[in-house]
Parts: sequence; structure tokens; C-alpha cells
Amino acid sequence: MNKYTIKTVITTAYSPDDEGVFIAADAIKRGKLAVIPTETVYGLAANALDEKAVENIFIAKGRPQDNPLIVHISDMEMLNSVAAEIPESASALAKRFWPGPLTMIFRKKDVVPFRVTAGLETVAVRFPENEIARAVIRAAGVPVAAPSANISGRPSITCAKYCKDELGGKVDVILESFDCKFGVESTVITFIENGVKILRPGAVSPELLRQVVDNVEIDPAVLSEIKPDQKVSSPGMKYKHYAPKAEITILDCTREKYIEFINASQERFALCFDEDIPEIANGRAVSYGSCSQPLSMAHNLFDALRELDARGAKQVFARKPPIEGIGLAVYNRLLRAAAFREISF
Ligand code: AMP
Ligand code: MG
Repeated sequence: MNKYTIKTVITTAYSPDDEGVFIAADAIKRGKLAVIPTETVYGLAANALDEKAVENIFIAKGRPQDNPLIVHISDMEMLNSVAAEIPESASALAKRFWPGPLTMIFRKKDVVPFRVTAGLETVAVRFPENEIARAVIRAAGVPVAAPSANISGRPSITCAKYCKDELGGKVDVILESFDCKFGVESTVITFIENGVKILRPGAVSPELLRQVVDNVEIDPAVLSEIKPDQKVSSPGMKYKHYAPKAEITILDCTREKYIEFINASQERFALCFDEDIPEIANGRAVSYGSCSQPLSMAHNLFDALRELDARGAKQVFARKPPIEGIGLAVYNRLLRAAAFREISF
């Protein structure tokens, strides 16, 4: 935690020319912290080449020191300034998915401080699609380290209204904008012999990656719990994540059984689909999307987790999402929010 409270400037931008963009960029240039919108989730941004500024990201979030940050760029020239080696498949993936919600891991150049990479020789890089994010990076003129703009362990933030409560007094600028388009963090991949391995699923799904790269593996940690002494390919995998105050359990069962289970006790809150709401009594249902639209689930999940907290839910039972496409990312986040509690019946 910061020892002192910072005076936070709250500003807005809904187009790349808006003044807020330049207020945030100027703060980043001066080694300060700015919350900025991206198409995945809101990010807590600082100059990636300024060790002190990066250190302040870890302090503001209470982020474990060994969890590396993603470096955001606004053009391919910036990629060359931070990555020492760019595999052929990375160029093909960049051509297809950048700008967009895909993070790729490269060998780092010396200019990237070990503070950013948590001591690793590799750096994670993303070229965001959100035009406000890109305009901020461009105007700052430096690559920008930006983890999700939430206190570590809490749900990520996908709409402006939560930024101030979470990080007001801890950062210099909060740039409010539209809700995040995807609502889940980027897909993180690393390059392996003849292909790529997904370390964290996101909107760029395994199915989409396979259209460009033949061999796409999914790290086992994406869908299963890490044992305390297990070696991980990505430090973020081992941390408790996205936890609301309530205890969440995923239920893998039919819709009928789910509704019956929820309605059997007044204590049970539902994290369900839009279509289930009319069947559940007394405002105990919060929807995270339509059962036929996995993108809507990604878009709403983190917001729904915060809404359950606001309603004082203690026991929450979530309907299991489909795991195709972006659904894999939704299920990955939900599993972590539920501390891997899942019941089939
Ligand atoms: P966040 O910034 O909160 O979206 O999390 C960034 C994610 O990227 C975490 O899961 C990190 O562990 C992962 N990551 C960042 N840099 C690297 C790296 N060099 N190698 C492996 N994983 C990384
Ligand atoms: Mg995060």
C-alpha cells in the first residue's frame, strides 16, 4: 500500500483526440500512474522503461513482486524496441490478430527493466485494439506496462464506474471511457517448438489461433489447479484471482436442476444466464450473459461478480459456461473466482 494518498485526477475520453488522452499520456511520460481503458479490461499504466514508475504499479495494486507485467505498444517499431527476437509465427499472428487482445512472449531487450518481467529474460507484449489506449501510448511515446486496474486478487474492472472506488487515491490519473469490448484479459501465448502454447485463454481463442499456427497447445494450468510446489510457465497462474467476497461454486447440471437448486434456499444467489432470471425468486439472480452468446458472458462476468458483492451475496452458484471459443476464457476466470469448486449432478 502507498504510505500517502495521491490526489487522483479523474478525466474522460471517448475519442482519441479528447483531452483526457493527453492528460493520461502526460502523467505516464512524467513517471506517474494512469488507469486507462482497453478492449480487454481497464489497465493500470506506467512507462515500462521507468523502473520506479513500474515499481509503483506493484505498490498501488498490492501485486506480488514475481508476477510480471504486460508491455503495451502502439506500433510495430515499439515491438522491435523491446523484443530481442521475433519468431516467424509471431509475425504471422501479429498480422492477423494485432491490434487486438493477444499477448505474445518474446526474449526481452536490455532496455526492459527486470522489474517489468519479474526477473524473467522474457517480456510479454500486446498491441491493443482500443483506440483510446493506442492514442495514450502513442502520445506518451513509450511502451506502457499495464496490468489489470484492480487490487490484486479482486475481479478485473470492465466499466469506468468501478475505477475510482478501487484505485482512487492510489494513482495519478483515471481516464474513464466506454465499457471494455471483450471484458476478459488478453490471451497470453508463448512460442514452443513448431507452435504456440496458451498460458491464459482470452478472446483470441484456440480455434482462432489454429487458423494461423498448426500446433496450438493449452497449458494444463488453464483448467486445473496449481499444486503449491508445481513449476508454472506463467507466474500469474499460481495466484488467487478474481475473487469476490462471496463463495462461488460452479454447477454443472441441466437448467431445470440448476433453477430447482437455487430456489430451494433463500441463502443461495445465482450467477446465471439472462434466460434464467425470470425463474429465480427475490432478486437473488445476477446474470452474466445470454446462454447463446459466450461473448456476452465475457463482457459481463467481472461486473456480475462485483454486483453480487454489492447485493451482499455470501453463497453463489454459477451456471457453467460452454468452453468453446471465448467460453474457454470465461470458464478459466470463473474457475479461479470459484477457487476451482465445481459440482456435477
Ligand atoms: P495481468 O497484467 O494482470 O493481465 O497479468 C499478466 C499475465 O501475463 C500474468 O498471468 C503473467 O504471469 C503473464 N506474463 C507476463 N509476462 C510474462 C512472461 N514473461 N512469461 C510468462 N507469463 C507472463
Ligand atoms: Mg490481473
